[in-house]
Amino acid sequence: MRVVVVALAGSGKTTIMNYVRERVKDVKIVNFGDFMFEIAKEKFGIENRDEMRKKIPIDEYRKIQEEAAERIASIPGDVIVDTHASIKIGGGFYPGLPARIVSRLKPDIILLIEYNPKVILERRRKDPTRFREIESEEDIEQHQQANRYFAFAAAAVSESTVHILDFRNKVESRPFEHAELAADYIANLFRK
Ligand code: AMP
Ligand code: MG
Repeated sequence: MRVVVVALAGSGKTTIMNYVRERVKDVKIVNFGDFMFEIAKEKFGIENRDEMRKKIPIDEYRKIQEEAAERIASIPGDVIVDTHASIKIGGGFYPGLPARIVSRLKPDIILLIEYNPKVILERRRKDPTRFREIESEEDIEQHQQANRYFAFAAAAVSESTVHILDFRNKVESRPFEHAELAADYIANLFRK
């Protein structure tokens, strides 16, 4: 089975994936951005993953995106891909899973994980390792709405099933509760 997991930057996908590793045996978990960054480093001397959106011309960005999809598509067995339904580039929404990409990845499931914008802003504030744009709660919610449309459009191409995990109204009762619940949800997909 192949599952594509999308959530806004700063949602905590990396943390979720660490929990998934403890729950699901023999699944390969790959980060689309890592694959792109490897290629971008070699070709453009990009120094961190957040520079890719800003420093690479869009036609080159498309090629790197395709190369990353090609490499991920060749991984056999159960695979989870940590990626984005859309990426904010130059103030607009660029598709993370256009036909060219999603038809290579061939996911069975596209899982959207959504949060209260306040939670995402708080998580971004606590992560000093990244160079993310400053956004308002409204910007974040608009992006989450856009991502639903992008996910449905992608699923229509690849004949995937869309799952939505909406944590907007779920306040955490302990640290990392959202990440654990999301990991449980993903682990369950592999049991069905
Ligand atoms: P992340 O670590 O998940 O925030 O990803 C880092 C960067 O990788 C993103 O900001 C994008 O520039 C790029 N990226 C990740 N997934 C995709 C995708 N499906 N299409 C295009 N760019 C992507
Ligand atoms: Mg991440």
